[in-house]
Amino acid sequence: MPATLSAQTQPISLEAGELCGWGGGAGVRSFVARPEGVEAARAALTTAPQSGVIARGMGRSYGDAAQLVGGLVIDMTRMTGYELDRRRGVVTAEAGITIGRLLGELVPAGWVLPVVPGTQHVSVGGAIACDIHGKSHGVDGTFGRHVEAVGLLTASGEVLELEPGSELFAATVGGMGLTGVILWARLALAPVGSALLSVDTDRADDLDEVLSCLAAPGGRYRVAWVDLLGRRPGRGVVTRADHLPAGAADGATVPSRATVPSWWPSGLLRQRTVEAFNELRFRRAPRRRRGAIERLGTHMFPLDALARWPRLYGPSGFLQYQFVVPVGSERVLELVIAELRRAHVPCYLAVLKDFGPESDAYLSFPLPGWTLALDLPRAAPGLGALLDRLDELVAAAGGRVYLAKDARLRLEALRAMYPRLEEWRAVREQVDPDGLWRSDLGLRTGLLGSG
Ligand SMILES: Cc1cc2nc3c(=O)[nH]c(=O)nc-3n(C[C@H](O)[C@H](O)[C@H](O)COP(=O)(O)OP(=O)(O)OC[C@H]3O[C@@H](n4cnc5c(N)ncnc54)[C@H](O)[C@@H]3O)c2cc1C
Repeated sequence: MPATLSAQTQPISLEAGELCGWGGGAGVRSFVARPEGVEAARAALTTAPQSGVIARGMGRSYGDAAQLVGGLVIDMTRMTGYELDRRRGVVTAEAGITIGRLLGELVPAGWVLPVVPGTQHVSVGGAIACDIHGKSHGVDGTFGRHVEAVGLLTASGEVLELEPGSELFAATVGGMGLTGVILWARLALAPVGSALLSVDTDRADDLDEVLSCLAAPGGRYRVAWVDLLGRRPGRGVVTRADHLPAGAADGATVPSRATVPSWWPSGLLRQRTVEAFNELRFRRAPRRRRGAIERLGTHMFPLDALARWPRLYGPSGFLQYQFVVPVGSERVLELVIAELRRAHVPCYLAVLKDFGPESDAYLSFPLPGWTLALDLPRAAPGLGALLDRLDELVAAAGGRVYLAKDARLRLEALRAMYPRLEEWRAVREQVDPDGLWRSDLGLRTGLLGSG
């Protein structure tokens, strides 16, 4: 561990708390420890109840990955130290620091994290544990590809330094916190000339056109918003963006931050309102625009401008169903959209991206193909049975569902989707033979080895 990162020794205190995922819904009661350094994190382990222990970052995973009913949750958000090596472009950061905080320091120094998700409010530990992907997956792969080393607090209380190439590293990246607590990580950065992006936009009239715009050459950051509610489901708006070199936008006026659009639906979300919103959003997008200048944060984290937007789904909250299917299985995207419409399950937000090559981490989500993320109201009648059917379609195509977003996957589907599950379990078993690390997701899905 780098010397300037926390090595504080104060004893740890526990609080009882209620926790839930970003999708909302009923919370669960747990004990929560908030260590401010390595020794306090280690001390927390000595208070572990029978139910087990799991780490938590910013709680931005949608389902039950970062909670454990009746267990100990180690909230890492007070461990936020970092050291930047400006010459080499490497940052060593404690696991609780957020991507947004890091970017605020890195970008003015000419560096960027190569992989960032759709919100800046995720911790480094959460990004590694879910092996997150960003709009740059085709170029940069997953977050884990840029991790040079990880400090892992294991069940025995030992701190191990893991590097790429080791089995435990591959089980920890994407391992959903179930191999131990990530204390810190050393991350390789990418150089950037400025915090500004040049953004190309295309409005596409149907799904085929959306896919071909996404696949067109150019654009490090590629993503499509897709409208599934209108008369022509699958139409959308595709953006492809690249960093601008230093000085390229001198004199240009650039909006300083994203604001909540005045036409964003207020009150509880209802299908009619969102249909009208989508229509407006589609029509406002330029049919074809090249080289618009946007700030990195505005472009990459549009939802962050909408504080507490999950509340718009009401007390039951919402589910995000994100899956990937391989190149050549585009028909599955159409089938999923058709099934949702046939079942009258409204999808209020749909985001489509292309993925590049798979990573070496056992449980990493991305594979070369297309990923579709769908926000669905949890209270929609018949949703559970519908998603079980969609799982079968996705698994049959060689695809998978993203665990960071999951709140309902079953063991049979998990097994079919994650062919390296047994290898991951074997590594986990070695480092945690008594099964200290547990989460509601791990228990619910059977990830931990009940089948
Ligand atoms: C608006 C929004 C947009 C998103 N966009 C994307 C996207 O584009 N791509 C993508 O991949 N994901 C995306 N996500 C999901 C998000 O990136 C992941 O869920 C991420 O893991 C959240 O980080 P967190 O700090 O909130 O972790 P938490 O939600 O707190 O935890 C997530 C998992 O990581 C584990 N974990 C957290 N910290 C540690 C630690 N220190 N040591 C060991 N395990 C730990 C937890 O046990 C849990 O299993 C998005 C989420 C939101 C809300």
